[in-house]
Amino acid sequence: MKEIVSKNLCTGCTACKSICPKNAIEMIEDIEGFKVPLIDQKKCINCGLCQKTCPVINTKNNSSLNKCYAAYNKDEKELLSSASGGIFSLLANSILNENGIVIGAMLDSNNMLKHVAIRNKEALKNLKGSKYLQSDLGNIFAFIKENIKNNKILFVGTPCQVAGLKAFIKQDYNNLYCIDLICHGVPSPKLFYKYIKELERKNDDKVINYNFRDKSIGWEIYSNKIIFEKRTTITELARNNYYMQLFLGDNALRKSCYNCNFKLGNKYSDITLGDFWGIKKKYPKIYNKKGVSAIIINSSKGQEMFEKIKENLIFKSCYKEDIIDGNLSLIESAGFSKKREYFFDDLDKLNMKELSHKYNNISLWRRIKHKIKNVVFRGKR
Ligand SMILES: Cc1cc2nc3c(=O)[nH]c(=O)nc-3n(C[C@H](O)[C@H](O)[C@H](O)COP(=O)(O)OP(=O)(O)OC[C@H]3O[C@@H](n4cnc5c(N)ncnc54)[C@H](O)[C@@H]3O)c2cc1C
Ligand code: SF4
Ligand code: SF4
Repeated sequence: MKEIVSKNLCTGCTACKSICPKNAIEMIEDIEGFKVPLIDQKKCINCGLCQKTCPVINTKNNSSLNKCYAAYNKDEKELLSSASGGIFSLLANSILNENGIVIGAMLDSNNMLKHVAIRNKEALKNLKGSKYLQSDLGNIFAFIKENIKNNKILFVGTPCQVAGLKAFIKQDYNNLYCIDLICHGVPSPKLFYKYIKELERKNDDKVINYNFRDKSIGWEIYSNKIIFEKRTTITELARNNYYMQLFLGDNALRKSCYNCNFKLGNKYSDITLGDFWGIKKKYPKIYNKKGVSAIIINSSKGQEMFEKIKENLIFKSCYKEDIIDGNLSLIESAGFSKKREYFFDDLDKLNMKELSHKYNNISLWRRIKHKIKNVVFRGKR
């Protein structure tokens, strides 16, 4: 077999690699910086298991949407250190309290994003918060299969990652809990590392912590906070940050994100979490400027998880339309433009400033306005 599914649709979920009985599939980095499956023809026995497993090929309508909530964590410290309403940390704590394993995305010491398994609350801080690039799943699906019989496991990822896990694991284990995120799409890790390297060169210092959703100014108008080894910290409004401009400009996403198979109506998770954009207008009584989440319960297991944490939440039930109104990413893929084809040609040639000027979609007048209002804090820790 040469190709499992078209490169434009492959999400890099690793289900094919994990299922291959001959270990003939390796995930390698393509020219854009995304991991894609490569089949070793010498090892392949043409059994077709990879194609039978691939969640993109075998997509089916899979969601029984029951309930939606607007909610936030009552613990202000947890709320402030999370991207939205701090729901993930409550769900994770409830699994860890029962000696379970939590699996989510963490930036390592080289700022590479990887899915890792944790067993204690101290390590939870590494998983919290959104990281806006595609995470490397490594061999985490095999780890889950090995450990699921004797452990409660919570897996958190993008909708395509959860779909990949479910396709690989096949059985509906009672002790496997899955959360996915409302997903705008994932930018190329290559772009993020390029950006980090530029920052390090410019500041002659190593980046030791990157927070994509710092809430010092607020949740709706959030910042990127970058901490360097020699005590310098940069906090920059996301809309003024070159990396975020390119992420939200939609030219740096994985190709599958422009034709995503895992929007509402095709969810494989027990719970979907996102930002409740527009909450102030819809339900002002539950608005909190430090963050409010949208929670979508997709299964009875999801409801069971919600019941366990609800005493620690301020919450209100709502309609799915209320969530969709402020968050089209729940039902629509990012828009594809011809510019995306050229973006990855330019990635190695231009610096971040040049890339951002050429490819972000913020119009000139808005850029000028932002420049005037630009809030860049440079401080000491
Ligand atoms: C790439 C990406 C795009 C998103 N797009 C939208 C959107 O368009 N609209 C919207 O409402 N919400 C979006 N979100 C979700 C949102 O940013 C929050 O993650 C979500 O609301 C959960 O918030 P929280 O406060 O409950 O949890 P948090 O404490 O913020 O936890 C987030 C969880 O997500 C996991 N995670 C973080 N980054 C990644 C990643 N790159 N890949 C896989 N898992 C990851 C973490 O391990 C953690 O478990 C996106 C998230 C990501 C990572
Ligand atoms: S199983 Fe996942 S990684 Fe493999 S081809 Fe399908 S989408 Fe791509
Ligand atoms: S937009 Fe779809 S394909 Fe892209 S990362 Fe999100 S879930 Fe996966």
